[in-house]
Amino acid sequence: MSGKIVILPEALTHQIAAGEVVERPASIVKELLENALDAGATAVRIELLKGGCGMIRLIDNGEGFAQDDVPKAFKRYATSKIYQFDDIYEVSTFGFRGEALPSIASIARVEMTTRMSGAISGTRIVVDAGRIEKITETGCPEGTSITVTQIFDPVPVRKKFLKTETTEQGYCLDVITRTALAHPQVRISVMANGREVLKIPATNDLSERMALILGMDFMDHLLPVQAVRENLQMQGFISRPPFTRSHGRHLYSFVNRRYIRDYLLNHAIMTAYRGMIEARRYPAVVLLIDLPPGDVDVNVHPAKLEVRFRHPRGIYGMIVETLAQALAQLPQSAEAGHARNEAIGADFRRPADYGDRIEEALKRYRLSSATGKLSFPEAVRQGRLQSFSPPLRQPAGEVSTETVSEPFEPLKFSNLEYLGQALRTYLVFSAADQVILLDQHAAHERILFEKLTRRGGSQGIGQRLLLPEVLNLSPKDLLFFEESMPLLQEAGIEAESFGGNSVVIKSVPVIFSQMDIRDLIMDLLDSFSDSDRLLGLKDRQDKIFRLLACKAAVKANHALTQPEAAALCRDLDETPFAATCPHGRPVYITLGLGELEKRFKRR
Ligand code: ADP
Ligand code: MG
Repeated sequence: MSGKIVILPEALTHQIAAGEVVERPASIVKELLENALDAGATAVRIELLKGGCGMIRLIDNGEGFAQDDVPKAFKRYATSKIYQFDDIYEVSTFGFRGEALPSIASIARVEMTTRMSGAISGTRIVVDAGRIEKITETGCPEGTSITVTQIFDPVPVRKKFLKTETTEQGYCLDVITRTALAHPQVRISVMANGREVLKIPATNDLSERMALILGMDFMDHLLPVQAVRENLQMQGFISRPPFTRSHGRHLYSFVNRRYIRDYLLNHAIMTAYRGMIEARRYPAVVLLIDLPPGDVDVNVHPAKLEVRFRHPRGIYGMIVETLAQALAQLPQSAEAGHARNEAIGADFRRPADYGDRIEEALKRYRLSSATGKLSFPEAVRQGRLQSFSPPLRQPAGEVSTETVSEPFEPLKFSNLEYLGQALRTYLVFSAADQVILLDQHAAHERILFEKLTRRGGSQGIGQRLLLPEVLNLSPKDLLFFEESMPLLQEAGIEAESFGGNSVVIKSVPVIFSQMDIRDLIMDLLDSFSDSDRLLGLKDRQDKIFRLLACKAAVKANHALTQPEAAALCRDLDETPFAATCPHGRPVYITLGLGELEKRFKRR
């Protein structure tokens, strides 16, 4: 009887192996770019069609291939970079496994022309789904040009895992900009669908390159850092507090010019900033760490995004000390100084025990959220607050309440007796049979969110800026921003492309007129993770509006005058879905008479 085990054909094993190396178009870009750098290229041109899903072309001016190396390079484990295992720990090249070209060629169609410097003629090869179709002599410039098409055609199921072309292009640009950061001396240009999206001239100055890639915003807040230790070198730039971002995407670490994501390095960076920046905010940091190849194992991750250090402590210590020292030399603002005295994770805008106090207060009263029908005596209904002056911090205009369909008669805050503000955050009201606590931030947030949403499509709520604000964005943010422009416009933020990587903000809604529009937009972009960028238009709009509402809303721990409180109540009364803020937190809670009596043991 014959057994069940078969030896898989070579083509199939290549395709399976390619799964590890080539996850998406960006992985192809990464491998080709690294090959070009390994070949000593000083200029690289990249062309993408359909976000890299249609075509990827990379042209370099590196050393090129010798003619008889051309077919070899497409075989598995074919490399010019190592000859024995231990060489892995000596290589200074990006590649060494000899996997990239055969992997890419096994899941796509690859056409390559190449000529070594000094050679009379070049070579052209076409490999389709792992099969060499032809090799010919050809005339071509020095260097190598590789064109990859029909990506994932031989393994169509892989296409189902791809995201939209915009997203895939974003991933490609991420790879390119990261690589560009660590190689300022290499000139890089990128065309996407025939349009030049990146043009980065060669420079010897890392900060100049950072400016082009991370945007001028970041440049205004840079602090250089440098350290030399035995066998260890580090240079880079870090952002000065209070410049921060809402996520850690701007923490770029490179080890021997290889971009890596490493918990240890990020932890060291955040430790150095401890107490200098607010909780859940991140600095922007670019660190280039160089150490002998033997002190780092790069052969631990398929895409080489993680590494293992021989002496992790030394590296950790160097980062924390160098960064902390550089930061300590800055003149300290009062805020930062205060923050320094508090444990990491504390929010320095509030007293240290603020959170605890509220938590305790809530527990003490075991409050329940309001959903029941409420009734008020006539005297209260008449409203003691109605004579208050006009609201502040809100755009003018009518809010329709036609679509309200709450299952109970909504609370009318203007009709309640206002007792005052507690903890500079909660407005306290008294009604016939209960006490009501209103969260001023959540309430205002809901009001603004509904205003933004309801206004959808209508124009003219924006106010022209006297000095239009020009923002320099990273290529990926630029793309996302441009896509989101119609949504922003609905919210009254009018923007236009300004050439290159810039956009200009021309008008903003009145509610944002007091705010730093630059910070607002940067926070907005930062709040969209890669997966969030896939959200449908409606969800994306929701998220944008929620964020704008949150930013513009009156903060907790902010004293409100009585007229301000009254205005807030009036606005809230006109707002549908007023019981919860756009994030789903309750806007108000009630303390019933029964609950109070029970707690005071009156019954
Ligand atoms: P690895 O980079 O791990 O060696 P690859 O499959 O990426 O494996 O490349 C195989 C070999 O092809 C490399 O070792 C190198 O000699 C050669 N090669 C690849 N790309 C280029 C290029 N752009 N210019 C010159 N040589 C290249
Ligand atoms: Mg390679």
